[in-house]
Amino acid sequence: MAAAASTRIFNVVFPRTLKNHVLLHPILGHELGHAAVSVPSKKVIADRIFNILKVGSPLSDVDQFTNWLRSIGMTLPDTVSPQIAGYWLEEFFCDIFGLLLLGPAFVGAHGTLLSVLDPGGKVAGQRHPPVRTRVRLVKIVLDELGWRTEIDAILNSVDPTLPRMWQFLDDANIDEPWVQLLKDDQIRAAVKELIRCKADFGNVFYQPCDQYIIKELALQTFESIPPVRQQDFESDDLHLHALDFRCILLAGWICWGMVEAASANNLKFVDVNRLCEQAILQQRAIHLQLEYTK
Ligand SMILES: [Zn+2]
Repeated sequence: MAAAASTRIFNVVFPRTLKNHVLLHPILGHELGHAAVSVPSKKVIADRIFNILKVGSPLSDVDQFTNWLRSIGMTLPDTVSPQIAGYWLEEFFCDIFGLLLLGPAFVGAHGTLLSVLDPGGKVAGQRHPPVRTRVRLVKIVLDELGWRTEIDAILNSVDPTLPRMWQFLDDANIDEPWVQLLKDDQIRAAVKELIRCKADFGNVFYQPCDQYIIKELALQTFESIPPVRQQDFESDDLHLHALDFRCILLAGWICWGMVEAASANNLKFVDVNRLCEQAILQQRAIHLQLEYTK
């Protein structure tokens, strides 16, 4: 079917080898952030976020930024292009946007993929800030939204001895100049501003799922059952329930956290991905059935 005249089509690149790794797909939320910035009406909002992030930080001034880059040992051209700060601000915006859009599952995908690209997390590129700086930003956004507390509460209710989810978030938050580029308050203010503008993005940002449902889905996955919500958990009656795919992905990540901490579960990362992929397809069928029987 031909796209409507008003429909814009964006190409988003994702490695073909990871096409079945659905737990890593939330990184596409970051790429959709870049697509959003390319739309003039959304760029106005992004510019406001850029301003919030850079006020009082080295990103606000080329000389300060040059000194900051030298202080972290970045090899620089003779004059630092003001464009570098612009590229970095867009990266920060896209990380916040991706997390708001795809929910906490974005954190797992973001941390996993970025740590592969730069295990030490210290490399500052002309187009991208150091990985640890970005991971620290994600940690603060997650804290601001209260989502990590919710996830830890779920884990705690499964087994109080389980470690916190995504320990790498705390590991990244070290007191080094190349990590502490943005102030916490600025990041928190940027999140609030983007949420305030959610209607401008079609109200598509992630809405947290019921904690009880997420917990049951994670436990289901842990038992090698796709995290589909087709039963009432308290009875064996078959019911069809709608379920946002982002909740399936979060349940998958929580299950993976449980598997990593367990000694007696042989699930591999690829298995958890396969279970979640099956669940997303089945849940899609359930949604069609619900639509049909309305
Ligand atoms: Zn990017």
